[in-house]
Order: sequence, then structure tokens, then C-alpha cells
Amino acid sequence: MNDPLLIACPHCHTLNRVPSARLAEAPVCGRCSQPLFAARPVALDAASFDAHATRAELPLLVDFWAPWCGPCRTMAPQFEAAAADLEPRFRLAKVDTEAVPALGARYAIRSIPTLILLRQGREIARQSGAIGRTDIVRWARAQAG
Ligand SMILES: [Zn+2]
Repeated sequence: MNDPLLIACPHCHTLNRVPSARLAEAPVCGRCSQPLFAARPVALDAASFDAHATRAELPLLVDFWAPWCGPCRTMAPQFEAAAADLEPRFRLAKVDTEAVPALGARYAIRSIPTLILLRQGREIARQSGAIGRTDIVRWARAQAG
């Protein structure tokens, strides 16, 4: 893994270089001065996705969901809570497949919710169906190695 790491800001999506030893020291964005980790998933659209998914160097755990999907709404607070457990070693993100269908198509999402773990654009693992906070955290850590 590279050090310093490229970390995408969850607010303005600018890439920041952060030494891995300083990840836990509440780093802030060099451009917008907001925290690089806010203990919550970042909502990504077509414009902001690649900064986090491809260019940033943290594993990205993406929840593909849609507003009409009951199990997605059930999992949402669990996924949000998992962000507090998994940051700053992971970035958690949400993609609304209804608002951004191109991203759902790019990753061939067939059912929602689907979690996909990406590392610099490459899919490491996926899991479909709603799961709880503990299982999300355990699954992500196991897959990331
Ligand atoms: Zn920023």
C-alpha cells in the first residue's frame, strides 16, 4: 500500500495525501477544511464516484440501493453505523441506483441492496441482501484482507 495515501474528501471530493500513520488523527481536507472522515457514508453520483472508487487509495465499500426498496431502507442505519467502525481504514459510500443508473449498470447490479468492495476501481467482493452492522463490518474486514 502506498504511503502517504490518496484520500478523497467526502465533501468536495478533492484528493488529499495523508500519511497512513495520521489517518486516525482527524485529518482535514486541504481544500475545503472539512474532516476527511465524518463517520458516515458519502453519497456518490456519476461525477464524484471515480475520485473515491478509482483514484483514492482506501478500499471503498459501496451500498447500491434505491429509495423504493424496503430492505435498503432497513439496512441504511446499519450501514451508516458501520462507517463509524470501518473508517478511516475504509471509505463507505452509497449509490442511489435510481438516480444514477449508469453506475448500477457498470457494476451489473441485479438486486438491491448490494454491497461491493472496491480497491482502486477493481471489485474485490460483493454481497447481496440486507445485513446488519456487525456483519457488514466483519465481511468488509475479511474481504479486504
Ligand atoms: Zn474537501
